[in-house]
Amino acid sequence: MTLSAIIMAAILAAGLVAFAMGVVVRLRVLGFARAEVRWDELPLRIERVVENVFGQKKLLQRGWRGLMHVMFFYGFLVLQTVMLQVVGEGLFGFDFKLPLVGGTAALGWMQEIFSGVVLVAVAMAVWQRYIAKNPHVKAHSEFDALVVLCGISGLILTYFVTNGMLINKHLAGEAIGSLPPLESLPISRAFANGMSGMSAGVQSGLGHVSFWLHAGFFVALLTWVPRGKHFHLITGPLNVFFNGNATHRSGAALKKTEIDLDNMTEDTVFGASTLEQLSWKSIFDTYACTECGRCQDQCPAYNTGKALTPKGLNVELRKEVERAGPLLLQGKRDQDGVLRPIISEVFSEEFLWACTTCGACVYECPVDIEHIDTLVELRRYQVMMASKFPKEATQIFKNLERKGNPWGLSDSRVDWAKGLGVPVVGEDGEAKDFEVLYWVGCAGSFDDAAKKTARALVQVLRAAGVKFATIGDAETCTGDSARRLGNEMLFQQLAQQNVDTLKSLGATRILSHCPHCFNTIKNEYPQFGGHFEVIHHSEFIAELIRTGRLKLTQKNEGTITFHDSCYLGRHNGVYDAPRDVIAQATGLEITEMPRSRERGFCCGAGGGRMWLEEHTGKRINVERVDEAMGLRPKEIAAACPFCATMLTDGVKQTDNEAAVKVVDIAQIVARSLDAR
Ligand code: SF4
Ligand code: SF4
Repeated sequence: MTLSAIIMAAILAAGLVAFAMGVVVRLRVLGFARAEVRWDELPLRIERVVENVFGQKKLLQRGWRGLMHVMFFYGFLVLQTVMLQVVGEGLFGFDFKLPLVGGTAALGWMQEIFSGVVLVAVAMAVWQRYIAKNPHVKAHSEFDALVVLCGISGLILTYFVTNGMLINKHLAGEAIGSLPPLESLPISRAFANGMSGMSAGVQSGLGHVSFWLHAGFFVALLTWVPRGKHFHLITGPLNVFFNGNATHRSGAALKKTEIDLDNMTEDTVFGASTLEQLSWKSIFDTYACTECGRCQDQCPAYNTGKALTPKGLNVELRKEVERAGPLLLQGKRDQDGVLRPIISEVFSEEFLWACTTCGACVYECPVDIEHIDTLVELRRYQVMMASKFPKEATQIFKNLERKGNPWGLSDSRVDWAKGLGVPVVGEDGEAKDFEVLYWVGCAGSFDDAAKKTARALVQVLRAAGVKFATIGDAETCTGDSARRLGNEMLFQQLAQQNVDTLKSLGATRILSHCPHCFNTIKNEYPQFGGHFEVIHHSEFIAELIRTGRLKLTQKNEGTITFHDSCYLGRHNGVYDAPRDVIAQATGLEITEMPRSRERGFCCGAGGGRMWLEEHTGKRINVERVDEAMGLRPKEIAAACPFCATMLTDGVKQTDNEAAVKVVDIAQIVARSLDAR
């Protein structure tokens, strides 16, 4: 064995051991967190990895910043072949070739192009971080970022210098077996040209120093990566694979907490207060976070001056893991302060309760981090174990427990339909044979504005000849707000009651004009044995128009914009149906707000925040209405009663209250029926 081979073998072994130790320490910490199985729906998980890791789908939607990351990703993959080549050359000499591809023009071109591309990406990152000082790319550890940028550029520059030496040796007549055809190495040839003025000895010395420096950079990165934020190079793709429920994004269907009141012990904990009580996936999320800041760029709470930042959720939680992890591994779990309450010690209560569960962070995150699940787990503990939650939520919980609606009203759930003759299953003979069961929801039953939507929808259904029925007073709140405010116990009671009722009444196809009811029944009631086809009124009306059952005479009031409900759009992917309905009913093209569809900006009502005060920063609904008002619309259309309420309140805060109306799409369609 040559001296070079011995040194390379020693360097490689040291690097691999350092890498493995770093990875093992971080993975062992996961063992302290709550276990959770994440192997279901394998084909869907693999599809997501192909789409988002290899296809880089999410990142490519983000302009030049996304492109820069894609360049890093593919460049880094190709750089692995350069590093393997160098290791092989160290062990076996400069005639070593990688199996199958070594020494080919194809590999030469790939290595040259991607090395060049990564160098450009590093330069762009340096410019963004240190010259433009872009706050979006500010890392929790600037030193960490600097080490990795230096390591990557070091790897590439030493590769080019080493190749430059080998090319000049080759041109001088020395056989270098590992070199691909020279025409496939344009950048290396440029380096060779630059070095050609030096003596052969100097070139050889420089080339060999570069070669060993390259090996050194490789080992340094192997050692560094599992210990810093660039661990995401490994955990990011895995995080995409382990993403919660392969069929739903985080937030659409929250995880069910198993509650067995008969077998509770003093160790029973609902939700999470410490690292140990969080799911291992919440900890893994922190390892996967690239600190890119895409989540907080879109977060309505962060953008209106609240304490919450979804990026901070991961960064601060990772710091907590880095603090407590080594102590846990040393067996100091029971020492004071090792497992400390996350809410109060790491995040404030204000931070926790600011989330509207809008899902913007989840949609934007390139590594599919599940911010909402972590936040709701923390809320669950605050509500069910610590009884510490915003005082307004106390009243909501009481109202839901006692009256089954958030307003705490005792009125009948059919009062809204007085005079309309709306059939109620079980009470009217007519209601036995229905095509859809209309789930009216609490807002449709009790809120004056939403009652108008319900009445308009009835008009539309009648005009289209749809046989429908409601369940009247058998309905109770779906529990959406209770669940998102952390009161899982209350949610489960309401959910089970509704599922039992719907099943007993033979419901199969359910129509809802509320995206919160729609989402909960569709995505969360299956956890309680309720498997129903649920359709939002926007989709149903679009279907009625498409199939010719509903004929409209187009009527409009002038410029109209549309506000996407997070629970209809981002959580369920329904963007086109409400737009189609508006276009058919008005003959107008929607004037879109700058933030629309997938990038729609929340109204501030989700996550139970409909019922909570906003004490800090600008009101989210005002921010949204300001955006809409910039278009000078005559109408702001909504497809959600919560959104409509928030937007109406927002409009009242403007100087133009009289100039603009907030309307539900059902009212727009009913207006076009009137015009016939
Ligand atoms: S769900 Fe919405 S409000 Fe909550 S952290 Fe994410 S972006 Fe912010
Ligand atoms: S949570 Fe996701 S989007 Fe936010 S900073 Fe981390 S990687 Fe980026």
